[in-house]
Amino acid sequence: MPAETLEQLVSLCKRRGFIFQGSEIYGGLQGTFDFGPLGVELKNNLKRLWWKHNVYERDDMEGLDASILMNRYVWRYSGHEETFVDPLIDCKTCKGRFRADRLKDAACLKHSKLHPGECEGELTEPRAFNMMFKTQVGPIPDPESFAYLRPETAQGIFVNFKNVLDSTNRKLPFGIAQIGKAFRNEITPRNFVFRVREFEQMEIEYFCKPGEDEDIHSAFIEDHVDWWVNECGLSRDRITLYEVPSNELAHYSKRTVDIMYRFPIGEEELEGIANRTDYDLGSHSRDQEKLSITAKVSPNPHSTERLTYFDQPNNWHIVPYVIEPSAGVDRGILAILTEAYTEETLDNGETRVVLKLKPALAPIKVAVLPLKKNEPAIVETAKRIKKLLQSSGELRTVYDDTAGIGKLYRRQDEIGTPFCITVDFDTIGREEENGLKDTVTVRHRDSMQQERVAISDLPAYINDRI
Ligand code: ATP
Repeated sequence: MPAETLEQLVSLCKRRGFIFQGSEIYGGLQGTFDFGPLGVELKNNLKRLWWKHNVYERDDMEGLDASILMNRYVWRYSGHEETFVDPLIDCKTCKGRFRADRLKDAACLKHSKLHPGECEGELTEPRAFNMMFKTQVGPIPDPESFAYLRPETAQGIFVNFKNVLDSTNRKLPFGIAQIGKAFRNEITPRNFVFRVREFEQMEIEYFCKPGEDEDIHSAFIEDHVDWWVNECGLSRDRITLYEVPSNELAHYSKRTVDIMYRFPIGEEELEGIANRTDYDLGSHSRDQEKLSITAKVSPNPHSTERLTYFDQPNNWHIVPYVIEPSAGVDRGILAILTEAYTEETLDNGETRVVLKLKPALAPIKVAVLPLKKNEPAIVETAKRIKKLLQSSGELRTVYDDTAGIGKLYRRQDEIGTPFCITVDFDTIGREEENGLKDTVTVRHRDSMQQERVAISDLPAYINDRI
């Protein structure tokens, strides 16, 4: 049974060091969270799995890491200056500011149990609020020298289209993948890491010839749903696809399908997969009148480049179409934690909390636990095993002797460690010869089954199962 409330996850994340409120000792900064020792491992593992699947295991993908600060004209011609807005309303009574289309996510500042509009407060008409953060660039404060913090990583890919094409000699279709921070001045950041002001995105811009776009779009939707299920452990029956209606489509999109997940707060977007047509490459190109662009873009006097592809067989330049799968790392983490969180009642009536994470995602892969911490031979062997494992591939291994073995198991269950290794008297050959010298007990997190494994086999044994 996955987590039923957000509070279960918030409490586990804080207690065990996955996620903390940002700037907590100063009362926090709304919409920011810090990933702690276990959170950073989980996040890195998620990003690594995504990169492996979308870059290394394909023949048609390149990677990129573009800067967060970009020339401000990027955001003019991407359309964000004009259209990256949410409807903002004010309450004249409690002075709260709310996103008009998400009143159900917000609480009245005077009556915390009521949503805005349900109380006596008088609401203003909605007005457009641009969600991009601005920052000053350079030492001289001047109204012209500002930049935006990027609200999506995608534009870094579009403006580098030519650079990547020229330096790699790619042929269409091919994609560029990027993982990085994005910033949105959300009116109502809420629901833990679901809606925050600083987050990470895992995005692909996949370039293809017009006419190939629709099939490629469908293939990405299917592939990415499978990835969330097979690699990240989400249940297929908690995922749905939402066909974004035409009146809700972003200005660049011909079709967008959202991969929705049933979070404890309800069914919400986890990843959006959009057909951005030739809008972005077209709008960032100079001399657009010489190009055949299907999307409606504004004339661009600032760009120095034509973002086109020379189609040799047909001897013409085309502006490629783009399919964009865009997933949030932080929402991915929330979905994975929701799914993995399990409370089980044991035979002895006790409850255990287990994070049933896929082993590849687990922050700690192995915990080495000495049965007796004042037995030098056991401690020395346990530490030797830890060293052996941490130098075998990328196995994050911990040593813990700070409690009895039962308690240590519970601690590791709660953070999702798939394997606990116990070093006991048999391991060091203290008992009469029983054939168990140089073997250890490996305990499996989900089944709690234990088996005896030779120390020399441990690296292969663990790596095979991860
Ligand atoms: P929403 O409708 O929930 O605001 P969106 O449609 O604006 O999301 P996109 O612009 O499609 O989101 O961004 C792609 C992905 O980035 C989303 O699917 C989500 O996973 C993530 N994302 C977007 N905004 C936020 C945010 N404020 N906090 C955390 N993740 C976000």
